[in-house]
Amino acid sequence: MRIIIFGPPGAGKGTQARLLEERRGLTQISTGDIIRTAMKRETPIGKEAKAYVEQGELVPDTVVRKLAEQAIADEAYDDFVLDGYPRTIQQAEWLTEFLTEHDTPLHAVVSLQVPDEVIVDRLSKRRIHKETGDTYHLDLDPPPDDVDPSLIVQRPDDQPATIRNRLSVYREQTAPLEAYYQERDVYYAVDGVGDIEAIYTRITTTLDDIPTAAGA
Ligand code: AMP
Repeated sequence: MRIIIFGPPGAGKGTQARLLEERRGLTQISTGDIIRTAMKRETPIGKEAKAYVEQGELVPDTVVRKLAEQAIADEAYDDFVLDGYPRTIQQAEWLTEFLTEHDTPLHAVVSLQVPDEVIVDRLSKRRIHKETGDTYHLDLDPPPDDVDPSLIVQRPDDQPATIRNRLSVYREQTAPLEAYYQERDVYYAVDGVGDIEAIYTRITTTLDDIPTAAGA
């Protein structure tokens, strides 16, 4: 099955994509994770991306396109969940073209609906494990006691000023993709508020109802 998990930063895309990977065998393709790894390794792409990411801006389309297309090709064009890609109309058009060329169209774009105040709370209280990439929420899902606290950090782009910028970038550049995918009949809105398992159930119920995806 080929899906996009869509929504604003902090909507829970990464959390749900990881569950879909563990439980449904769909590989999570997160352009944000790929970019952060490149930044950590100080590769040319990582160095180019750094300033954009740290200010909450989008990395140029041409750079991200290559990363996403390579990752999809690595999965033989199937059984993936795109998390954080596409984020602009240009990226969406390239993706449609790329998947059409390989005769592997998307089955669904699952859009997590989360109000702004919930997003700001989630992002400002989000913490990550420096080595494993596991994510936590200080109140709802705190890091376990046996994890070394010095390994639990805040993403630099989860600072309040950057969060505000990421949300406005989302509204201006990414939200228009909802209409793009609605027009293509692959768009499914899912309530993204509540506990992780409840949201996961809503997503899988939606996916299981898509006739073309039955058994995929
Ligand atoms: P994420 O982990 O998905 O929130 O992504 C973190 C950051 O990586 C974003 O704020 C962007 O700077 C960059 N990024 C990730 N995916 C994309 C994309 N599809 N297009 C442009 N920039 C991206």
